[in-house]
Amino acid sequence: KAKMLGKSKYIVFDKVTEDNTLKKTGMIVDIKKAMLNNEFYLLFQPIYNLKENRMEEVEALVRWKNKKYGDISPSQFIAVIEESGFIKEFGILVIEDVFKQINYWQNRGIALKVNINVSPLQLKEDDFLFKFEQLISKYNTALNLVGMEFTETQILNINKQEINKIKELLRRGIKISLDDFGVGYSSLINMIEFPISTIKIDKSLIDRINENKVKTLIKGILHISKEMNYEVIAEGVETKEQLGMLKEWGCDKIQGYYISKPKTSKEIELMFNNN
Ligand code: C2E
Ligand code: MG
Ligand code: MG
Ligand code: MG
Repeated sequence: KAKMLGKSKYIVFDKVTEDNTLKKTGMIVDIKKAMLNNEFYLLFQPIYNLKENRMEEVEALVRWKNKKYGDISPSQFIAVIEESGFIKEFGILVIEDVFKQINYWQNRGIALKVNINVSPLQLKEDDFLFKFEQLISKYNTALNLVGMEFTETQILNINKQEINKIKELLRRGIKISLDDFGVGYSSLINMIEFPISTIKIDKSLIDRINENKVKTLIKGILHISKEMNYEVIAEGVETKEQLGMLKEWGCDKIQGYYISKPKTSKEIELMFNNN
């Protein structure tokens, strides 16, 4: 079956994509309902400072409490939210939840930086900075407790205007990380093209840390980052051996199941107090 788009562009839908399109349409409706019903919540994964030997920050990772879809990874449903055009509303919900959490923790003497995954599509909104500002005042959020992560692949097609927004956030003291660094359409030039303070080396490189060439590559990234004054976080650290090597090579921080899986805010609080 073929459908005509415009004058001469044909897109062929096979059975599989047709099914997926239907599934997605259904899912969009469910996601909208889920947003109204508060079915989304956040878990927090510790980011561990190898020099201070303690958890200094966390990454907020969204979860969907949903009966129909079961355990579905955010990397799947975020894509649907992005395609359907309401990542703006969704993204603001996440930011507001994070600010509430920072505020709650601060009142209990817990100063943890929280890193938020931000879709570059959110930056396209004219009022992104304005909305952000409003929430900062509403929750009296300390800017040094806020971080934002942009994935290297997603950030590639952003324009000058959006880069300026990130620059402004960075200037105001918000930590900006280049997430999933080293995979996809990765290029060293990305290290200087975007206003960032932190590089997060992707898990797929950490997985292969025992291969000699990968070892060299990771050491190289660490070396370049140091020269450029970027902090480095290694993602997906699952073993003591990986931790040992990264520590020896001067990596600042690690994140991964070896330290901790994503946890509820209560569990994080307990961890912090036993820190
Ligand atoms: P990410 O930002 O790279 O987050 C890290 C992912 O790796 C998380 O998966 C985390 O649970 C997983 N992970 C961490 N350590 C380990 C480890 O040692 N081993 C293994 N096997 N996995 C580990 P998760 O929570 O499924 O999130 C997937 C992606 O979804 C995130 O990748 C992020 O890009 C996106 N995402 C999550 N929450 C949000 C959100 O609120 N907004 C947006 N726009 N994207 C989000
Ligand atoms: Mg991330
Ligand atoms: Mg990542
Ligand atoms: Mg990732």
